[in-house]
Amino acid sequence: MKKLRISILGSILLLGAALLLSGCGNNAANTQNQSSESTSGSVKKLTVYTSFYPMYDFTKKIGGDKINLTNLVPAGTEPHDWEPTPSDIANLEKADVLIYNGAGMESWMDKVLKSLNNQKLTTVEASKGLNLLKNPDKSENLTNDPHVWLNPMLAKQEMGAIKNALANADPANKDYYEKNYADNATHLDLLDLEYKSTVAKFSKKDIVVAHQAFGYLCNAYGLNQVAIEGLVADSEPSPARMAEIVKFVQEKKIKTIFFEELVSPKVAQTIAQETGATTAILNPIEGLTESDQKAGKDYFSVMWDNLEVLKKALQ
Ligand SMILES: [Zn+2]
Repeated sequence: MKKLRISILGSILLLGAALLLSGCGNNAANTQNQSSESTSGSVKKLTVYTSFYPMYDFTKKIGGDKINLTNLVPAGTEPHDWEPTPSDIANLEKADVLIYNGAGMESWMDKVLKSLNNQKLTTVEASKGLNLLKNPDKSENLTNDPHVWLNPMLAKQEMGAIKNALANADPANKDYYEKNYADNATHLDLLDLEYKSTVAKFSKKDIVVAHQAFGYLCNAYGLNQVAIEGLVADSEPSPARMAEIVKFVQEKKIKTIFFEELVSPKVAQTIAQETGATTAILNPIEGLTESDQKAGKDYFSVMWDNLEVLKKALQ
């Protein structure tokens, strides 16, 4: 995070110096201007776009200051029903790499990829060909579920795909990307181990969540999710569904109803009021608000926060 800020600052300073020189109207300024376009190094950095937050965060962790990275979905926006603007499409026509999750998360992607004329664009569907590590004992239905990043071991495979794509597109920095991947893979392994050992001690295994985003997480660690909304966070539950959830909460003596930062907490609050439960945030990491990002939050910190929240609710 810090490193990236410094590099952005560095680029701004360089650009500022170049503009100042060109303002003086001497010839050297033009040369300076051109070299600043290749962003502070002798080699032009890859221009990389990501579809939504987890892809952005994974790519930032691998690409660091060797790439120019932009996330398409704005901070704090729920990504399921987001679509790119014409200016996003214009930017993608000039991009080197586009990284997305796939598995149905970006419903706009097929149409956009067909419409693009960008011949040099490398596209990365990070969830493609994942070894899904399905647990045959669990009944979580993962058909059409795109939320793979919430299982750290699948996040690791997505990061691996991103690393491979960056190394292929920019072989000069291959070692840098490999090193960053290895560091993050170690953190993901640790996260997985900690989830395994912590969840194994929980006395309760059922979680009531805002939308059906936690199937892969539940599948990996033996939890069971009951979702107020479906795979896409865009529909209010029917009165019958509400009654069903209320009954489930009462029968299982569930203490906490989870909601999300980017979705209205109204329904979760209603269920909590009816059942005497409390509410808490369980973050599916689909998008972090700007203030969260400024505060230094990322995939890892939110996954650790989620584990603490689960511990409070289930142990
Ligand atoms: Zn979702």
